[in-house]
Amino acid sequence: MAGATGSWWGRLPHALTRSVGFVRAAAPREFNAIVALQAAGAVCLVGQLVLARTVLQEVLDTDRAGDHGRLIAALLALGAVTAVSALCAGLAGERRRLMVELVRRHASRRILDVTAAVDLASFESVPFNDGLARAKQHAESRPQEIVAGIIQVGQSALTSAGLAVTLATIAPELLPVLVLGVAPTILFLRRNSRDLHALERRLTPSDRERWYLEDVLSTTAGAKESRTYRLPAILRPRHEALFESRIAAHRDLARRRSVRIGFVSVLGALVVVGGLGLLAALVVDGRMTPADAATAAVVVQQLTVRTRMASAGAGLLYENSLFLDDVDEFLALLPPVRPVGSATTDARPPSPPPELHALTVSHLDFTYPGTDRPVLRDISLRIAAGEIVALVGENGSGKTTLTKLLCGLYVPTAGTIRWDDQPAADVDPEDWRRRFGVVFQDFMRYELPARLNVAIGRHQAQHDLDAVRAAARLADADGFLGGLPDGYETILSRAYAGGADLSLGQWQRLALARAFFSDAPVLVLDEPTAALDPRVEQELLVRVRALAGAKTVLLISHRLSSVRFADRIYVLHQGVLVEEGHHDELVARAGHYAELFDLQASAYRVSARPSGYGRAVEGFDEGAG
Ligand code: ADP
Repeated sequence: MAGATGSWWGRLPHALTRSVGFVRAAAPREFNAIVALQAAGAVCLVGQLVLARTVLQEVLDTDRAGDHGRLIAALLALGAVTAVSALCAGLAGERRRLMVELVRRHASRRILDVTAAVDLASFESVPFNDGLARAKQHAESRPQEIVAGIIQVGQSALTSAGLAVTLATIAPELLPVLVLGVAPTILFLRRNSRDLHALERRLTPSDRERWYLEDVLSTTAGAKESRTYRLPAILRPRHEALFESRIAAHRDLARRRSVRIGFVSVLGALVVVGGLGLLAALVVDGRMTPADAATAAVVVQQLTVRTRMASAGAGLLYENSLFLDDVDEFLALLPPVRPVGSATTDARPPSPPPELHALTVSHLDFTYPGTDRPVLRDISLRIAAGEIVALVGENGSGKTTLTKLLCGLYVPTAGTIRWDDQPAADVDPEDWRRRFGVVFQDFMRYELPARLNVAIGRHQAQHDLDAVRAAARLADADGFLGGLPDGYETILSRAYAGGADLSLGQWQRLALARAFFSDAPVLVLDEPTAALDPRVEQELLVRVRALAGAKTVLLISHRLSSVRFADRIYVLHQGVLVEEGHHDELVARAGHYAELFDLQASAYRVSARPSGYGRAVEGFDEGAG
């Protein structure tokens, strides 16, 4: 937390250049326009003061019957300058709103670069999730304040310079009084900024929990269980308690900050009173004309306002530079590779994945980051091109973990994975991952048009509806997708106008279509047919079989009836490969696979019938699903 250290003065130039750099990178045109408008505004302010003084002097000097030409000219000029000043302020306000949006986009883009590029393990680490939550929160809320801070500092610095020049010509004696008044203000505001930043960092973990609860209680996904289990009864008090502790912490902070603000306000008032007293003394002594004194009084009042604005703006920048440090801390996680989906990636068309002869795993061990229990031990296996290889085993035996390692989502703790002779460690992770089309157990259901839901597997071809439909046909999804209200352009969520939802089995077929649509040579199907009825499952698996040769398939399934047709079956038990072979071989071996198969088959076996594998399997096939 480098941001909270270092002196305020030491950090202020850093805060200013850091914030200006961030804003200029995001919105260069708006930034320049605002600076120009502010400079014009400052010139207008000095003009207004000089003209007001002239008007006052004319009023005092001219007798009633005299010529009012100069007075009228000064008044007209004052009106014109006031109009220009208001116009500058108005235009700057409009630019400012736009600038906030541009800065938000800039920050959001950079955060998404990181989330796309880091490995999957990062998403399971607490510091990463805290950092991500902070960066996302700041990207949304801080741009407004950073822009406000820069504008306040810029505007007040420029106008204060103009005012100081004006004051120096009328009443130079007042300048030191004003300077002395500002310094303590800055010291108090510095403490306020640091306290706020420290509090927000401390609150991040509980904020994350609160946001999660809000999601569960307010999104469609959570709505079903929320009603069935009356979740609000248990979650709302928890949510309230988290909010309550946040509010209590902020109340306490507000109390401390208010005391300091009170000091600053009294000090500001003393400076004004002191300045005005000095002016009164100068007029009484006859060392200053009433017109000059009146103008100087306005200048003092304006300068006080501007210096207060400048120090508040500087405080805002200081505060936000601490938060920008949090964003930087998160952005520093960006690995030195091209971010996925960035402009540079899009500019370079991805080369198709290379042909495969065999995928080989040698002596692979894996322990999840942040844990100490090995989940996979000494796994060695081979998947030849065009084969359908099945992975079976009880829940928790490590099947999904092994597929995640194969797909490059985690790095093995020991051992190697090779694509022909090429070790995975030598390949750019993004290129490696493109070689696998995967249907995860918890695949995504995108609230996007049906066409994009399929085309995500190969985004370059997203507009090729014929290819999308061909993949959907292969997954037996074309019938129901084509029949949606707006066909393949229907958004798959009823939360959108004209949108439609699918059944779980239909979603699963859509996920399969997505994998079929990708140009990946290897398909990894993790329980792809769990929600399908046995007939549809059989048809789909026959289609997968037909794909074999063109694609290599790794299939995980709990229904052992589904894996019988695989070219080879690997059996995992508690993280270790215990058997390998074809269905008939494994059944004949009467080992772990046979035990699992018998167990499953017996669930479907008609108890009155005499049993034996043949009969059991027959019953199993008829009743499965
Ligand atoms: P399977 O797919 O065979 O059901 P998994 O590969 O999902 O098994 O899980 C194997 C083991 O790894 C289980 O003990 C599970 O608790 C553990 N595990 C799975 N995912 C993670 C994770 N992200 N972090 C830590 N442990 C995990």
